[in-house]
Amino acid sequence: KPVVAIVGRPNVGKSTIFNRIVGERISIVEDVSGVTRDRIYAEAEWLGKEFSLIDTGGITMEDEPLNQQIRNQAQIAIDEADVIIMLTSIREGVTDADEVVAPMLYRSGKPVVLAVNKADNPESRAYSYEFYSLGLGEPYPISGSHGLGLGDLLDAVIANFPADLEDDYDEDTIRFSVIGRPNVGKSSIVNAIVGEDRVIVSDIEGTTREAVDTRFVTDDGREFAIIDTAGIRKKGKVYENTEKYSVLRALRAIERSNVVLCVINAEEGIREQDKKVFGYAHEAGKGIIIVVNKWDTVEKETNTLRDFELEVREEFRYLSYAPIIFVSATTKKRLDKLPDIIEQVHNNQNIRIQSSILNDVVMDAVATNPTPTDKGKRLKIFYTTQVSVSPPTFIIFVNDPELLHFSYKRFLENRFRATFNFEGTPIHIIARRRT
Ligand code: GDP
Repeated sequence: KPVVAIVGRPNVGKSTIFNRIVGERISIVEDVSGVTRDRIYAEAEWLGKEFSLIDTGGITMEDEPLNQQIRNQAQIAIDEADVIIMLTSIREGVTDADEVVAPMLYRSGKPVVLAVNKADNPESRAYSYEFYSLGLGEPYPISGSHGLGLGDLLDAVIANFPADLEDDYDEDTIRFSVIGRPNVGKSSIVNAIVGEDRVIVSDIEGTTREAVDTRFVTDDGREFAIIDTAGIRKKGKVYENTEKYSVLRALRAIERSNVVLCVINAEEGIREQDKKVFGYAHEAGKGIIIVVNKWDTVEKETNTLRDFELEVREEFRYLSYAPIIFVSATTKKRLDKLPDIIEQVHNNQNIRIQSSILNDVVMDAVATNPTPTDKGKRLKIFYTTQVSVSPPTFIIFVNDPELLHFSYKRFLENRFRATFNFEGTPIHIIARRRT
């Protein structure tokens, strides 16, 4: 999927435009972790073309001088995006800050679409011509608050999409990413996994996207790709050490992964930030493994591991299906188990259950725990069928979808999990009215 980034000085309306473009179409099943509230990244679509949208304004640090903030934003957009929307405002006209950004974007060679916001009425649009002076081509007058001009702007954006960005990995290559806050040990884990005894596959004809990944083959011939290894190792620029930037990289890596290793630092314990990114992996329906790293630093008594595990379960209730593994990238303890676990979780994500078996399980479930009623009306389940994998997704045809309450859905999910091996994968259950 192409990546589009919005760049612009504070108050030009970046988040308004961001929300307009994303609209209601946030492809998130349930917002367990609060990721949708403070959004810097979302999925969007225009004329059937899907893309990811980044609000670079949400990433940079406010304690930096304005011009530095803007330079960092522009640099992030240049590094991360396929198309950049530079946002300015007709109220203030061309500002110094705009003149700082424009040449950076121009020199990068990335396609830039220039948008002039706050053109709320037709008369004001005439003033957008002065923005030709930025040297970024035709200015598109828009109004975020009135929702005007966005169609033309988005037409220009998608016209600049690169021709082919699909990852062309073999189907049997398992893609996984390693995510977590700075310093949890992501790059140490990656280095340990692709240690001496593994053959690193070089990407001879890979696309640019694949060049940032690391491909390796295990001794017994299984192929893996670690998504965005370059992002994990990169730590040069100031913003690359910030949490928001690391979140952004993580979100993009998650999207391209089959399985996500969510890393916690045992030395520091669980932090708010962990919940946020891991929640995104859950919402994206990816296979998930919780990796507790730096286990060597923890002094162990009888129940240390069990207690830590309970704490993880408590803090990440929505990840109750994810296996937890305690490792040390330094001593390499238990790291050799990871490829097997990753492969197993990937398999579980791709299980297909025959409808006949599925319906037996549902019938048994209903027999032990009658369906709920609401205002005298009882939920009737007619038929259940699996409609997709990764994650396994089930449609239940019922008399009235409103009657399939969260708690009963959870009960059915637990039944499915008790019957089939869905360890490590979220599963989605959708109620449909039988027509
Ligand atoms: P990243 O920012 O998540 O990629 O973290 P790094 O891999 O750069 O690791 C951050 C620091 O933690 C480095 O000093 C590592 O040597 C250290 N570290 C990583 N894994 C372990 C571990 O399992 N045990 C200990 N004691 N230190 C570790």
